[in-house]
Amino acid sequence: MSATIIDGKVRAEALRNTVADEVARFRAAHGTVPGLAVVLVGEDPASQTYVASKAKQTVEAGMRSFEHRLPADTAESEVIALVEALGRDDAVDGILVQLPVPRHIDAGRVIAAIDPLKDVDGLTEVNAGRLAAGRPGLRPCTPYGSMMMLDWVGRPLAGLDAVVVGRSELVGRPMAQLLLMANCTVTIAHSKTRDLAGVCRRADILVAAVGRPKMIPGDWVKPGATVIDVGINRVPAPEKGEGKTRLVGDVDFDTAKGVAGAITPVPGGVGLMTVATLLANTLIAAHLRRGLTPPAFFADLDARLFGR
Ligand code: NDP
Repeated sequence: MSATIIDGKVRAEALRNTVADEVARFRAAHGTVPGLAVVLVGEDPASQTYVASKAKQTVEAGMRSFEHRLPADTAESEVIALVEALGRDDAVDGILVQLPVPRHIDAGRVIAAIDPLKDVDGLTEVNAGRLAAGRPGLRPCTPYGSMMMLDWVGRPLAGLDAVVVGRSELVGRPMAQLLLMANCTVTIAHSKTRDLAGVCRRADILVAAVGRPKMIPGDWVKPGATVIDVGINRVPAPEKGEGKTRLVGDVDFDTAKGVAGAITPVPGGVGLMTVATLLANTLIAAHLRRGLTPPAFFADLDARLFGR
């Protein structure tokens, strides 16, 4: 039997539509719209594409987009000063610093300068701490979007065995925290894990966030498991022509889809959902910052995912 494909394009569009409706409601109620500021330092081509796409989707959802593109040699102090100024700017509800930043800049210091109320990627210690404590706050976009994909699958999460491969601050750790909040029994695997295949085979929910092309083959997947493939890896694609490349995930989609119950494709999966979730987080931040309750859509989602 072939797995249900969790279509990131469809899921992301549905979320963007919800956000756009809520932005229109916000405008009618408060006479203003949420604003998202994205800071990009340097000319990394992939980052340039991501930032352009985020700005386009922000505007399409009816929000204001503020793009700050700084040269690669910008001093760390200047980047921090900009992030602090955005924190004071009332038109800005969300601040995202596009990672990675150039090597002479300490990403941790820049993130620490983000106002936690505007921290739409949930990376400040305040929001990471709230998540670790199981309390409400702004959550990292990729894991939160991945949880929305699990919600769509519709399989109750409580009591399931979840395995997250990868323990980065951006993806693996917050994903594990959210799965724990959803009452899963969570294992975090990483580069020192013994018998990774055996650990993965126990997973009812398998999340791959490693950055190694097709590292997880179909025979590491438990029959019927839900597989969330966060990995985005560019590999040579000679079949498309000389020098061409294509994107693949951390999971070998072709073999896994015959075993899994549901699976996200790459491309067309978690990546698309991440950007839509960034818009959702900006909308949530715009409410929380003003002491308003975020739209019921998000409370209902939380109740389904995290209710006890
Ligand atoms: P990091 O490099 O920060 O973390 C990778 C993690 O994988 C580490 O915890 C590392 O373990 C673990 N790891 C490395 N090799 C192995 C191995 N052989 N076996 C088990 N674990 C291993 O990456 P990110 O978390 O930032 O990103 C992971 C992937 O997700 C990348 O492909 C990235 O491009 C993609 N990504 C996709 C996004 C999306 O929107 N879809 C958003 C963000 C990232 P250890 O800690 O022991 O070193």
